[in-house]
Amino acid sequence: MEQHLTRLLGELVAINSINATLSGGPGEGEIAHFIQNHLKRLGLEAELYAFAAARASVVGRVRGRGGRESLILNGHIDTVGVEGMEAPFALRREGDRLYGRGVYDMKGGVAVMLALAEMLAGQPPAGDVWLTFSADEEDRSLGTEQLVREWLPSLSPAPAAAVFLEPTEGLIGVGHKGFTWFEIEVMGRAAHGSRPEEGIDAIIPLGEALGELGRIRSELAARPPDPLLGRPSLHGGMVQGGSALSVVPAHSALRWERRTLPDEAPEAVAGELARVARAVETFPGGQRVKALTIFTRPAYRTPPDAAIIRRLQQASPGSKLTGISFWADSALIGQAGIPSVLFGPAGHGAHAVDEWVSLKSLVDTYAALRTVLTT
Ligand SMILES: [Zn+2]
Repeated sequence: MEQHLTRLLGELVAINSINATLSGGPGEGEIAHFIQNHLKRLGLEAELYAFAAARASVVGRVRGRGGRESLILNGHIDTVGVEGMEAPFALRREGDRLYGRGVYDMKGGVAVMLALAEMLAGQPPAGDVWLTFSADEEDRSLGTEQLVREWLPSLSPAPAAAVFLEPTEGLIGVGHKGFTWFEIEVMGRAAHGSRPEEGIDAIIPLGEALGELGRIRSELAARPPDPLLGRPSLHGGMVQGGSALSVVPAHSALRWERRTLPDEAPEAVAGELARVARAVETFPGGQRVKALTIFTRPAYRTPPDAAIIRRLQQASPGSKLTGISFWADSALIGQAGIPSVLFGPAGHGAHAVDEWVSLKSLVDTYAALRTVLTT
């Protein structure tokens, strides 16, 4: 299995599938076709779900013998960029470590899915197994959004669970935070620096916004931590403004990111944006403020009684339950009502130049999921 997984991963890594909108890559078209052909050669059904030119997800299906609910396995097939990497598309082995862009996040998991597909093609499972290879996870999750819209509702009965093979170091991920991107824009009036009374400064009021964000951050840090996910947090993201040193600035913008917990009410989180906007508005000077939620993704917590947790624990003794620090597409499938967990290999360097995955952990992931799917 070591050799087989290494070969599969080498083939996947050799295909540049850098996210098109996040990092200006070619997108997922080529790798989606590769996976579709691979599944078809195994005699499995495999369908493309395209949402833009050269951008597509793949859904494969292994038909079960009947008598058990279906399961979804998921891996995203896009990667981040390769800046600073020497040979990002050539898989390199050093001992147990396999190096290359995407090996950890998460073509290693995708290789495990392809190996499982091959095993299942020769040994049909009790319930159907859906193999979903999604595009655009690294940016706006357009691939999984499309699958939730166009594919998932066609399944009846709904699958019992979904397993996302994101790198979890062999732990069972039963929740992760969500995030929201906020922005306030401050509008003033430009004037020559020698005539400040004719202008309205759009930068100085940002101090009020920063002060309020500091207070909110302290409040979040004082909350009792969630046992699995810790505390919610925020950090300053981007700040812009002004046009020249000798000009009263007519415009500024401040963006920040808020990491959210599953039980935080979205209205309460949005209330923080209103607080920041109000602090700027009430500062003397005549500036106007626009408050905006740029983008938001929900947090997720797997229902504690979901059978997939117990099945994975049985198949992978010693695998503890954990909260996951990063956001993943599991929130979207979970939100659609399918209990979702994350379970995948160990390694290092997601989004970094020294990305590697442990080959042994790929074999372990394969073995555990084979047990889940065949017993
Ligand atoms: Zn990932």
